[in-house]
Amino acid sequence: MTALDDFAAGLGGIAFSIDPATIRRKSRDWYSISPLLRKSLEGKLGDIVVTPKTKDEVIRVVALAARHRIPVTARGGGTANYGQSVPLHGGVVLDMTELSGVLWVKPGAVRALAGTLTSDIDNAARKTGWELRFHPTTKTTATIAGFVAGGTGGPGSCAYGVLRDRGNIAGVEIISMEEQPRLIELRGGDVHRAHHAYGATGIITEVEMPLAPAWNWIEAIVAFPTYMQAVRFGVGVGDSDGIVKKLLSVHEWPTPRLMRDLGDIVPEGHSMMSTLIADISWPDFVEMVAEAGGVVVTSSPEGRGVYGRPLYEFAFGHALFQVQRTDPTRTAIEGLFHASDLVEQVARVHARLKGVGPLRMELRRWSGRLVGSGSPYFRYESEEQMAAIAAIMRDEGVIVANPHASGVRSVGKKELTDADVAFKRAMDPMGLLNPGRFEIDGASDEDFHSKMDVRHESPAIS
Ligand SMILES: Cc1cc2nc3c(=O)[nH]c(=O)nc-3n(C[C@H](O)[C@H](O)[C@H](O)COP(=O)(O)OP(=O)(O)OC[C@H]3O[C@@H](n4cnc5c(N)ncnc54)[C@H](O)[C@@H]3O)c2cc1C
Repeated sequence: MTALDDFAAGLGGIAFSIDPATIRRKSRDWYSISPLLRKSLEGKLGDIVVTPKTKDEVIRVVALAARHRIPVTARGGGTANYGQSVPLHGGVVLDMTELSGVLWVKPGAVRALAGTLTSDIDNAARKTGWELRFHPTTKTTATIAGFVAGGTGGPGSCAYGVLRDRGNIAGVEIISMEEQPRLIELRGGDVHRAHHAYGATGIITEVEMPLAPAWNWIEAIVAFPTYMQAVRFGVGVGDSDGIVKKLLSVHEWPTPRLMRDLGDIVPEGHSMMSTLIADISWPDFVEMVAEAGGVVVTSSPEGRGVYGRPLYEFAFGHALFQVQRTDPTRTAIEGLFHASDLVEQVARVHARLKGVGPLRMELRRWSGRLVGSGSPYFRYESEEQMAAIAAIMRDEGVIVANPHASGVRSVGKKELTDADVAFKRAMDPMGLLNPGRFEIDGASDEDFHSKMDVRHESPAIS
């Protein structure tokens, strides 16, 4: 009997599968969006998929895996786009989607089991006049623990910042990887031990999130003759504290044509801003559009646009997905534009990258300031080409993360502190959680290293 046979035999009534098709499906996420991750992660598989339904079952699985020294990689909706949920060293794929349900909603906060879909949480909160401050664009398929452990921000971040900003995660319940697992509640600044740690510092069982007042949102696309007009307008709206907003996503022509569900809504040659504006702010917003020389080319109540899906599914992580549906050779990197002269910084990068590919910019708040995150959509040729584009952006003061890697350090979105390392050691003394993603001894944290090394940059841009 192998350790894995012993492990499976010890599962008792806990659901598991060793069916090869199930293992293949549950060992993948959306890494195929990256040409480099396609090469480095293809063929990496778990050995068994275990699907606990209760917290007690999660604890039993973790204890059993610890006893048999078998790696465990947690998995929510499997929508991660850096390949963070792909098991690099086999073992257990811990499917958390059955540990699901909203535990309570009260004014300003919600608590849910780890595998609850972010859309289910948002819907429950909305019934009480509140909503998630922000959510990933994969809201209907992503779990709340997957978002906390592997995500960044999304629609709402232009008002409330991102997960790394203090106060945007209220609490996390997490289990240590030991023969006698400990159940710990992280609160305050300690929640960051679990955020963007890719499940390598513990298995999350519950998450508590702060809420924002819910609004009736109007979604709209605004067209501008030039890209810099669109950027200037987006920054203007972002800086207008009186305008209640949820999305400011600015795309250079020809991106509106590369997003085929938009049809020809945006006139030929025009750049666009996709936005969500509260109905109370709509009249002021329309006035600002006219002042900036733009035109609202379509507007509707949230989720009811003529393009057949929520408008935020053309923004953030979804924007590249939409572009690749039309042109699979296009890819992107992740730049954080954070200069005090934000519009000028974008203009400089825009001028230097002319011809590389249309720029995308999500305007959002980050550490208390309005910043832009984005990249050109370029046709992938080589790692050297990608590194050259990153170098130009860095030269203009942009912090660049690497979406073509899948380790905590090599993606470069989380600044690892001594406290993170100490927590990892305490929670996973045998190094069995998502191994290869968060190594603490030595520089390497995964098998694969891109030439786009971003590990020496600070601050990280989660
Ligand atoms: C088209 C597209 C659009 C996207 N848009 C956004 C966006 O707007 N904003 C954003 O932040 N991200 C975005 N993403 C990335 C991803 O969808 C989100 O981060 C999402 O929240 C991940 O949730 P999930 O349940 O799918 O997690 P998974 O992909 O299953 O897991 C993500 C990470 O969390 C770990 N994990 C999962 N569950 C647990 C648990 N219970 N305990 C410990 N660790 C766990 C996994 O091991 C993995 O490392 C996008 C991805 C795609 C493909």
